[in-house]
Parts: sequence; structure tokens; C-alpha cells
Amino acid sequence: MDVESFRVAAKSMIDWICDYYDNVESLPVRSELSVGDIRSVLPSEAPTGPESWNKISSDFQEKIMPGVMHWQSPNFYAYFPSAFSFPSLLGDLMSSALSVNGFLWVSSPAATELETVVVDWLGKMMGLPQAFLAIDSEGKRGKGGGVVQTTASECTLVALLAARARIMEGRPLSDTSRLVCYFSDQAHSSVRKACMVAVTPHVRVLPTCHSTGFSMEPALLEAAIKEDLAAGLLPFYMVGTIGTTSSCAVDPIGEMGAIAQKYKLWLHVDGAHAGVAAILPEQRHHFAGVELADSFNTNPHKWLLTTFDCSCIWFRDADPLKAALSLTPAYLRGKGNAYDYQNWEIPVGRRFRSLKLWFVLRAYGQEKLQGFLRHHIRLAETVAALARKDERFEVSAPPRFGLVCFRLKGRSNEDTSALIEAFNKTGKAFLITTDLAGQTVARIACGGFMTQERHVRATWQLIGDTATALFSAPEE
Ligand code: PLP
Repeated sequence: MDVESFRVAAKSMIDWICDYYDNVESLPVRSELSVGDIRSVLPSEAPTGPESWNKISSDFQEKIMPGVMHWQSPNFYAYFPSAFSFPSLLGDLMSSALSVNGFLWVSSPAATELETVVVDWLGKMMGLPQAFLAIDSEGKRGKGGGVVQTTASECTLVALLAARARIMEGRPLSDTSRLVCYFSDQAHSSVRKACMVAVTPHVRVLPTCHSTGFSMEPALLEAAIKEDLAAGLLPFYMVGTIGTTSSCAVDPIGEMGAIAQKYKLWLHVDGAHAGVAAILPEQRHHFAGVELADSFNTNPHKWLLTTFDCSCIWFRDADPLKAALSLTPAYLRGKGNAYDYQNWEIPVGRRFRSLKLWFVLRAYGQEKLQGFLRHHIRLAETVAALARKDERFEVSAPPRFGLVCFRLKGRSNEDTSALIEAFNKTGKAFLITTDLAGQTVARIACGGFMTQERHVRATWQLIGDTATALFSAPEE
């Protein structure tokens, strides 16, 4: 494809994208294909010669689109949102157009420098402590700073590796067999996966307090650490979550931080979805104690209008991270005191992700972004109020950060699952269930960039109608 053919194809693809967003609301949210359906309509070998762009794009429309889940539908409420906005899309387009690889400052100075600036911008918007910023208010470079990674999973893993490097400094390698890591039974599965990947020998999963809304109990955490120390183990890493996946519970970060400091553990705070809510002054109380954390993560690609992938992590002191991940062969030498972000992550190669975040922060500005998050928080409160009004339902956890959990009151887990499956089958909206203290609950995660009050009201109406059809139908 030459430049002129690209110009034509790209213009028609941009038209396609605009039409898609004009119509996405009317599409069935969930693809109803079965496993293998897409594969069955594709050739088993790549073409030996070039194919025309017309043919490729019509195959995309006919063969691929039927298998797409419409995450950007205003009626998509499953998981947590995957953020989208047009400025971000343009940022991704430009990043791909330039296709630079910013592993070192010298390998593309703009990629590195913009990332340092933009991650500091976001850190300041969220009120993160000065120590987490790369450049302080007097323009001095500190020991901390942030970086953009692919996902929260990767952030949790690199934080764990930094924690291990810190505790293992000066110790014999054999001490790695004594390492223990702590998190709650509500922590995301990626925390356990990080422990698996890093071959952490001891993992303590602490039960949460159901009456306080599924958050970590500091007394249990401290007792577990004491017990492990007494058994000759080496506690080194704990993860607290702000906005757990199942119910958006918030762990008591201040109390966890005090315990982390007392016993010299690394505290990582996982705010994958909800962390960006720190840009709202009225939500900041959830973040109390974050100054005691060693690292903090949030994904603008979940709730801050930035397309996947864009996950930011800040470190109070990035030296242990660099100690864990720096390895510089002759062909990867950097330039003196520049930030070389290959030393802050597992892969060497890295995309120019800060560009899209920069576009988003500039195109919206802080106030509009705050308004965007407040809108979703209000939508979730609207759904919760509707659920409370209908005596067939109960709200299972306090609505928070745009998420509402509910279930059928006094009925079995199977009934709630059957209700959601029947509801999803309508194609009009999509949500998922989770497990909270042995109960199946449905989650409505409000966060779509097109979702308005009329959508959540219609969704709730349909949930009620589906329940009526399933459970109030006259006996045969
Ligand atoms: N942590 C929490 C609290 C999450 O909710 C999720 C995903 O929803 C993750 C971590 C994993 O995020 P990622 O897909 O960016 O690895």
C-alpha cells in the first residue's frame, strides 16, 4: 500500500469509525457466535500474494465484526469499562503512524519526555504526594516517578519485583524461599498471578470483613505477618486495593501503610479502575494513607477516556525497581542521567502511549474529566435507587466508583444467574455476575463514554421485565 492508496483507505476507515459510533447503540451488545465460528470462515493459510484493500475491508465487515463484543455500546456494563474517546483514538493513530520505540531516551526523546510530563500531570491531578512525582514543585528530580505500562497486572508484577529487590539486598539468595506476600480475598486475580510469575513461595490470602463492605481487616493482616515472622518467614510485599473488581471495596490503605512501615514491607496500591477517582476532591477520602504506599497504580484505559492500553504506576522510590529490571548491554546504552523507561518495566520495547493520554488531558481538561467521572458515579447511584425501590431485589454492596452490585432477594444464586443470562440474551445490554461471600450478584459497571441516564433506566426496566417473565409467569 503506497501513501496515496493509504490516504484513500484511511479516509474511508475514518468514515467507517464515525458511522460505527453513530450506530453502536443499536447493535446487539454481545456477539452470539460460538467457539470456532470465526475460524471456520477464514482460510487456514495466509495469502501467498497481496490482496486488495477492498477485499480485506469487506472481509473485516462480514467475517470479523459479527464476533465483536461492543464494549463501547452505551449499554455495555460488564467487567470494568475499556475507555474510549476520539482524542485518545487520534493519539493511538499518531503513535502507530510514528511507530517509534521509546525504550531509551535516545531512541525517541519525545516519547520519554512527554511520558515523564504527562504522568506527573496525572499524578498531580490525583493529589499524589510529591514523592511520587518525577519532578517536584521546585523543578528538582526526586527518587520517585511514574511510568506507563500495559496493564495493572504488569504494574503489580513490577512492584513485586521491586519489593523483592529491596528486601533481598545484601541477603543470600536462599532467603527467597522465605518470602511472603499478602493480599485480601477480594484482590484481583492478577495479584496472585504476579506471585506465580515471580515464583513467590508463600502467599497469604486474608479474609475480608463483609460487614464493612469486603475490605481488608488490618488486625488480621498484622497477625498474619507476626505469625509468619515467628515461623522464620520473610514478609515483603502487600497489595491493597482501592476499588476491588467484584464490588469496588476499598482497603484501609492508611492502616495497611502503617503496618507496612512497621514491618518493612512494600505496599502496592492497586487502583486499576477506581484510582482515577482521586481527581475528585469528594472521593479523596478513599485514598487516605496513599502517601505511605511504595507504589500506586491506576489504568486511564479503564475509566479515563484513554484507549487500551495505558496503565500508570508511580513509585515513591524507583531505585529498587531499576535494581530489579536494569540490564544494559552495549546495544542498549542510554544517555547519562536521562529516564530510560526500559529499566522501569519488563519488556524492552515500548509504545508511545503517553501521546494519547496527553491528547485526552488537553482535549478535555481537568474539569470535564471530573464531570465525566461524577456522571458515572451518579448513574450508579440512580441504578442503586431503582434497585432499592423494587422489592424483588437487594443491593449487595455500597454503590461506588460507578459500580452497583445487586441480586434477587431471597432467591437462589442460580436464579440470579438465570436472570442475567436471560437478560444478556436480549442483546440490549450486557453485564456479568460475580461472587460476594458465597452469593451470586450481578454487577452494573457504569463507565461507557456514551452512557446516559436514559440508558441505565432502560436497562433497569429490562432487568425488571426479565425477572417478571422468568419468575412471575403463571404456573402451567
Ligand atoms: N486490579 C483490579 C482491581 C482490576 O479490576 C483489574 C481488572 O479489572 C486488574 C487489576 C487487572 O487489570 P489489567 O487488565 O489492566 O491487568
